[in-house]
Amino acid sequence: MDLGLRGRTVLVTGASSGVGLATARMLLAEGAHVAACARDADRLVGTLKEAQERAQEQRGATGRVHAVAGDVTSRASMASFVESTVAELGVVDAVVCNAGRSLMATIEDTSDDQVRDEFELKIFGALNVIRAAQPHLAKSEVASVVTLNAILARQPEPRLAVTSAARAALLNLTRTLSHSLGAEGIRINSVLLGLIDTGQWTRRYEAADTTQSYEEWTGELAADRGVVLGRLGTADEVAWPIVSLLSPLSGYTTGACIDVGGGVARYV
Ligand code: NDP
Repeated sequence: MDLGLRGRTVLVTGASSGVGLATARMLLAEGAHVAACARDADRLVGTLKEAQERAQEQRGATGRVHAVAGDVTSRASMASFVESTVAELGVVDAVVCNAGRSLMATIEDTSDDQVRDEFELKIFGALNVIRAAQPHLAKSEVASVVTLNAILARQPEPRLAVTSAARAALLNLTRTLSHSLGAEGIRINSVLLGLIDTGQWTRRYEAADTTQSYEEWTGELAADRGVVLGRLGTADEVAWPIVSLLSPLSGYTTGACIDVGGGVARYV
């Protein structure tokens, strides 16, 4: 199936690992051009070069890559990311607000500065790049934004207290943005994640210093959290809903959410 993304330019924040990297790979395989940022530019450039070569070898895809250092919490950094993308690739057709992490802590164990940092990352981490890209998106006939979020936005967990609250705020803001962006023909949707097997979990496994294998540890984690499918999801299983929302085939979907949680959500 042709997703209508060939030759389109998509910005992906946090594309050097996990969900962002899987999304960049899938977009390149579809023939899209990818502009990517992360704080560690060396890792980003290396992984995207490899992704571009793989898309060329396996799919004959000719998408270009623009990879630069950027911090999503800095408005100036995101303005410069968007400017350099337009200079290199000409246009911006879509944005994936992916960069981020979560703070595993109860409210009692969270300092005021950590609360501020978490809201800063969740809100400005999306808003800075969206604001910078908006004038360019408004010129595209297939303009679309996807914000990566978590099922925690609707189903808060005390062990992720501030992350849950900040995610709820981002979900709320994404819905509000669907009105102002929609007036300019720009769609925006959320993908709400459960437990996805990326660097976030391998780092926690290493910190846990357990005698269990990674498979045993993640299996127990999935059971403990009540994941219906009994396992963590893969980054590719998230990349597909993101890419399908970006596709003009989803042209009448905006302000919506897709859950990718293997059945962990308890709400209807
Ligand atoms: P990873 O840790 O695998 O990748 C995070 C990416 O974001 C890296 O490329 C990292 O590169 C980049 N990044 C982090 N902070 C910044 C920043 N301030 N500015 C620019 N880039 C940044 O994470 P995942 O793939 O697991 O997560 C993707 C998104 O999904 C995140 O927003 C995460 O919070 C969310 N999510 C993930 C879940 C999971 O179970 N994996 C669950 C729920 C939500 P660098 O460090 O070089 O900047």
